[in-house]
Amino acid sequence: MIEPYDLAVIGGGVNGAGIARDAAGRGARVLLLEAGDLASGTSSASTKLIHGGLRYLEHYEFALVRESLSEREALWTIAPHIIHPLRFVLPYVKGLRPRWLLRLGLFLYDHIGGRKLLPATRTINLARHAAGAPLKPGFTTGFEYSDGAVDDARLVVLNAMDAAERGAEILTRTPVTSARREGEGWIIDTPAGQFRARALVNAAGPEVLAVEGLIGDKPDYAMRLVRGSHIVVRKLFDHPYAYFFQLPDGRIFFAIPYRRDFTLIGTTDADQKPGDPIKASAEEIDYLCEGASAYFRVPVTPADVVWSYSGVRPLIDDGSGKPEAATRGYRLDLSGEGEGAPLLSVYGGKITTYRHLAEEAVDLLTPRLAALTGAAWTTTRPLPGGDFPVDGLEAFKAVLAGENPDLDEPTIDRVARAYGTRARRWLTQPRGEHFGAGLWQAEVDYLVAHEWTRSVEDVLWRRSKLGLLLNAAQVARLGEYLGG
Ligand SMILES: Cc1cc2nc3c(=O)[nH]c(=O)nc-3n(C[C@H](O)[C@H](O)[C@H](O)COP(=O)(O)OP(=O)(O)OC[C@H]3O[C@@H](n4cnc5c(N)ncnc54)[C@H](O)[C@@H]3O)c2cc1C
Repeated sequence: MIEPYDLAVIGGGVNGAGIARDAAGRGARVLLLEAGDLASGTSSASTKLIHGGLRYLEHYEFALVRESLSEREALWTIAPHIIHPLRFVLPYVKGLRPRWLLRLGLFLYDHIGGRKLLPATRTINLARHAAGAPLKPGFTTGFEYSDGAVDDARLVVLNAMDAAERGAEILTRTPVTSARREGEGWIIDTPAGQFRARALVNAAGPEVLAVEGLIGDKPDYAMRLVRGSHIVVRKLFDHPYAYFFQLPDGRIFFAIPYRRDFTLIGTTDADQKPGDPIKASAEEIDYLCEGASAYFRVPVTPADVVWSYSGVRPLIDDGSGKPEAATRGYRLDLSGEGEGAPLLSVYGGKITTYRHLAEEAVDLLTPRLAALTGAAWTTTRPLPGGDFPVDGLEAFKAVLAGENPDLDEPTIDRVARAYGTRARRWLTQPRGEHFGAGLWQAEVDYLVAHEWTRSVEDVLWRRSKLGLLLNAAQVARLGEYLGG
């Protein structure tokens, strides 16, 4: 059946879900169409940082760094469950970037983004600092600075949930196969049927040009698709600091404490050729292991890798030589008045800038879409479950633990960080079957009923990362429960 939506959004990554949420909150009837699961594209494969991007300063991307830095605290405030501050340690290495340059970069980083909540940079002596202990001897000077970590896949789902609670319809596993202008609006074809909307947003991430092809639209920008891979190993250190490491080739990579028991190491930058699998290659895994082994006392080998993942960055091709130099900024392009029903295309973008990008996108559409009557609103309104003080996670965990004395501390920690106050929606239900590692039937049922979850992969690798903990038999049982 053809439904007259105000706005149809193609793509359920962070940008599409953010735009759907913003527009629904400003009064539009929104339809979001996602080919696979929510966040099944790049938005679950990032380094999971809410960051200004210290290294972008080297590429003079001051406007992008300023925007990202100011988003950092705004996002933490609206999602204090899935976002947490991290202190990064950047060791000075003789022969690489000089000390004065690191100091200057960090000074700018501290000051250009309106930092209010996060602590400032400080110089540290790695011989005495906890972060020095796992490193090889010889690193003396270092710098400690602030950024944030996010559960990227859950950020997408929470935006989609909030959009749905404001009236949006979210259809996953519904690829758009074509779209055309007809009369005052768009006709959109999918295997699930045809839809009608007054305006269309193309937020297909790395597929933005492919979707333009389906729509018959002329691309406004050339895109450069750059793959980035990460490896996850058992935890390499016991302190809460993350590392920002430099490599002799000028690149940088991170080693980040991950999910209590693991360390996340990445990323790489490799041009992604059409048809290549989006998968960490053996060379990328070796590169990350060698990079980590240059810093840590205990070497990291490919045999230590318990999980790896890859994503493709949808970058605007700005003619930069090296893939890591291509701009991380974004562009929004709105079709002209004379071209008929509005089409807005999203090129590029970071997880960190998604809220601001969505706000700009909806601002641009407002003069062309009568249903968009509200003003910008997403800076302060919490995402589902994030309705507690920005520094209130530990207090909230204590309350949750008191309410659920049967759950162990790792489960309380995981659940609080994933769902925030929404956890109560299923923690108050009978627990049912235990699938392992603190995953109960009540949680799975909630994910199916409220978070568009269908498959084992949705549960174990996007709504959670329990895939790191469940064994093969437990995974098989969960699959049986989910019906396939
Ligand atoms: C390795 C790596 C590390 C990164 N690290 C960070 C980081 O730490 N911090 C940060 O801020 N940013 C980071 N980024 C950038 C960030 O992850 C991306 O810019 C962002 O996730 C892009 O979101 P998106 O919504 O535009 O695209 P996507 O997440 O790819 O979403 C697009 C969606 O469109 C869907 N789609 C495609 N075609 C169709 C169709 N025909 N019909 C319906 N749906 C369709 C896809 O299935 C997909 O889900 C990183 C990126 C990479 C690759």
